[in-house]
Amino acid sequence: MAKARYILRFDDICPGMNWRVWEEIERVLVANNIKPLLAVIPDNQNPALNVVPPCEDFWERVREWQERGWTIGLHGYQHRHLTDNGGILRLNAQSEFAGLSEAEQREKLEKGVAIFKANGVTTHVWIAPSHSFDRVTARLLPQVGIDTISDGLALYPYTEPEGVIWVPQQLWRFRDMKIGGVWTICNHHNDWDAKNIVTLRTFIEKRRDAFTTFEAVATEYANRRKNLADGIALRVVKGKFWLSNALKR
Ligand SMILES: [Zn+2]
Repeated sequence: MAKARYILRFDDICPGMNWRVWEEIERVLVANNIKPLLAVIPDNQNPALNVVPPCEDFWERVREWQERGWTIGLHGYQHRHLTDNGGILRLNAQSEFAGLSEAEQREKLEKGVAIFKANGVTTHVWIAPSHSFDRVTARLLPQVGIDTISDGLALYPYTEPEGVIWVPQQLWRFRDMKIGGVWTICNHHNDWDAKNIVTLRTFIEKRRDAFTTFEAVATEYANRRKNLADGIALRVVKGKFWLSNALKR
């Protein structure tokens, strides 16, 4: 039977995030040669995500991660709560994108990508704030150079008929999954303490070989279509783990 493989994703990466905790996380990742997916906000305007004074050399740090082979995802534009629309996934009834016009959405995507470019950062990955975006967003993504989405509930990455690759994101906690699949674990480190770091380190050290990278699986499953197994196996998982409080981000 296929084994579980894991990808680590860290959300809300912005100049005012919890750097003290982040330095610890980074040490663990580097020591274990884990290449995570980082959800970087181009121009954060959500005060709740600023927990320390802004880091002055933020973009230099982002470029360092990029050079290290870590994947940088576009985490919205300003991470603002503009509509109560849950979008395609309906995980949270709040969005910076879903429900807005095509023109408004295009402008935000273009501005976000432009900020990345101006700072020497390239991306091909979309990570919607609050997991909320709609069909309009999905259609616009290739127009700004984005061909892959980190989101959705499936066992393995798959490609939609329109050609966009979805790498599913199913977990918000460190879970030892007995079901074969590619499991993306989403983390919000702003409120982490020393205990969370220990959990992270222990989880990684126990199953170092089970870790893969976002880029590797996006390539590996580029021709896969979503199928029945995704739905059935996930219903089981969903009953147990999903929709925990950690999800309300
Ligand atoms: Zn976020």
